[in-house]
Amino acid sequence: MPEEVNPFKIAQSQVDTVAEMLGLDAGLTEFLKNPQRELHVSFPVKMDDGTLKVFKGYRVQHNMARGPTKGGIRFHWDTDIDEVRALSMWMTWKCAVVGIPYGGAKGGVTCNPKEMSQNELEKLTRRFASEISIIMGPDTDIPAPDVYTNPQTMAWIMDTYSMNHGYTVPSVITGKPIPIGGSLGRNEATARGTVITIREACKKIGLELKGATVAVQGYGNAGSIAAYLIHDMGAKVVAVSDSQGGVLNWDGIDPHEAIKFKAETGTVVGFAGTETITNAELLELEVDILIPAALENVITSENAPNIKAKISGEAANGPNTPEADRIMHENGVMVIPDILANAGGVTVSYFEWVQGLNRLFWSEEEVNNRLEKIMVESFENVYAISQEKDINMRQAAYILAMGRVVEAIQLRGFYP
Ligand code: NAD
Repeated sequence: MPEEVNPFKIAQSQVDTVAEMLGLDAGLTEFLKNPQRELHVSFPVKMDDGTLKVFKGYRVQHNMARGPTKGGIRFHWDTDIDEVRALSMWMTWKCAVVGIPYGGAKGGVTCNPKEMSQNELEKLTRRFASEISIIMGPDTDIPAPDVYTNPQTMAWIMDTYSMNHGYTVPSVITGKPIPIGGSLGRNEATARGTVITIREACKKIGLELKGATVAVQGYGNAGSIAAYLIHDMGAKVVAVSDSQGGVLNWDGIDPHEAIKFKAETGTVVGFAGTETITNAELLELEVDILIPAALENVITSENAPNIKAKISGEAANGPNTPEADRIMHENGVMVIPDILANAGGVTVSYFEWVQGLNRLFWSEEEVNNRLEKIMVESFENVYAISQEKDINMRQAAYILAMGRVVEAIQLRGFYP
């Protein structure tokens, strides 16, 4: 993989840049650039046709200075250890940006969930949960959903962990279905957080959100919900996409109807009244707001000069390479970085964990109000640093986050 698109190398180079700005010493920088703990597993699953298939999976805990580690589990055919390392590191910074008491972790299984039956997915999930339960737990490391995992996946993980311990442990996982201890508002939280930060960014650059045009790449949990929340706030969603391609209608797409269409057909492609476009074309559309909500490295030095949006709200993790960041900043595009823009998910995961540990149930209004407060404050904190230091929003978010992690490390000291 070329260096520019290896997510772990990118995550490490981001640390290097900010470590220099913060004046960190070489040893501490090295510590922050590498995960504290990695578990690699290789495990068999009996498939429906009777064959035994071996899968590789990972759980990486990047840093635990600020608390137990937290981060999603991804099922994807391209998932590898470097992707999971990068994602775990971004989780550390994300939790620190919004000030919740967690370190960062991430998990992944290299598999193609689209080609597996529910039965096979359940077996794979339960076996993976057992494999990682030696480092997972409500006080140690708490997973959540990510690409191609969902509340049902979380329910299987919670049940597997609970069966192995002999009692129900809801707080071992977040993003659970509501009847078994999930939090109201969790399903929408990532997208709600993204849309809140976009709303705040609009105020800063003087863009009217009502009537603003929006393109959304990726139409899963983060993307489809961001599309309807921003639509419901008065913006005009003109393009959306998924792994099979994109659709465009300059008169506007109804995101609620597009969700129903995708649920029926498996893709947004072919949605009534739209023309088909590629994912690459979607990114370069003449829109006001872009929401990358799929995978990493979709904006690189090659297409960054062609991005016409005024704001890019990163619902996805790692959609920009560092070179893309530099180009977009020079071109005046306000990039709301992933570690801020999609932190709503982990924030409400934290609320779910707190409710679970304390046997509480908050109303959706209470969850959303608390989320709103944290997202607005975090956005303001990052924006203030970017203005004060004349740097882009990603660097500002890293300064805030790494500063908080370093403070925790130094207060705890270096054992022994
Ligand atoms: P998801 O599985 O619900 O949806 C992923 C979507 O991306 C699907 O619509 C899929 O078709 C589409 N997709 C896959 N490959 C694509 C490609 N090559 N081009 C265009 N679209 C493609 O996953 P999700 O939970 O919505 O996650 C999406 C992004 O948001 C990821 O980067 C994830 O890490 C990030 N994220 C998710 C959460 C969360 O709470 N779910 C929290 C923070 C960040």
